[in-house]
Amino acid sequence: MATTTRSRARRQPVQPQMDATSDVIAEIARRYAKRALCIFAHPDDLEFTSGGTVSKLCAEGWDVSIVVTTSGNKGTKDPAVTGQALAGEREEEARNAARVMGAREPIFLGFHDGGTTNDDELRALIVRHIRRLRPELVITWDGFRVGFNHRDHRVAGQATHDAIYPSADDHLYFPEHKEDGLEPFRPVAMLLAGSTAPDYHVDISKHFRTKIRAVLAHTSQMRGRGEAEMVQMYREREKQARQERPDLPPMRESFTRVVWGR
Ligand SMILES: [Zn+2]
Repeated sequence: MATTTRSRARRQPVQPQMDATSDVIAEIARRYAKRALCIFAHPDDLEFTSGGTVSKLCAEGWDVSIVVTTSGNKGTKDPAVTGQALAGEREEEARNAARVMGAREPIFLGFHDGGTTNDDELRALIVRHIRRLRPELVITWDGFRVGFNHRDHRVAGQATHDAIYPSADDHLYFPEHKEDGLEPFRPVAMLLAGSTAPDYHVDISKHFRTKIRAVLAHTSQMRGRGEAEMVQMYREREKQARQERPDLPPMRESFTRVVWGR
């Protein structure tokens, strides 16, 4: 028995924990499985905030899953549209966008738009998907951002935070998952979108056209905007970003990094 333990230890040398200032995407790809889970509140949140990053991950061979807490069934000003019809339409748009980026088909938790709460019900669902999919990287909303924000964004970010630590990794939280063969799991790192003071910047210059096509898949939210107009808008932003922060990639998506380590 002792020999087996020693030889196993030789085959798998202990690596130092990933530090909080590392390039988390590159480090995870080098040291762990390239699996990511994006948890957002509305069908288009991911594409607007992280669509370039997700397209880059997919192009680099990551397996990317998506969980959406609501179906965005209040996201219209058109008085002729019902919430139910809108939910169906927006779910279909998110499926199309995921296909454009190369991610898996999104999973919809089915809460009403504006109706999510960071409670046991939501956390149990998020923990279940974390234990089932075992992502090393989680991308979600910054749930602690102050100022203008949407309740569902805040709730998705905070519930995901709470689901990862301590719930998903401690077997006494939601023990019923064990009956379905789901074991505790803790992702290595989290990237928070929409942060006011981001510290991690992803260069999306090679993937921004894919991001734009994914954003445009959300037809109900685009008010007739087309690809040429969007490309021009992103180019303008890039020009401005190059002047304001010459030290950062001008075509970028920015996040706050949380390294959980393992
Ligand atoms: Zn949203």
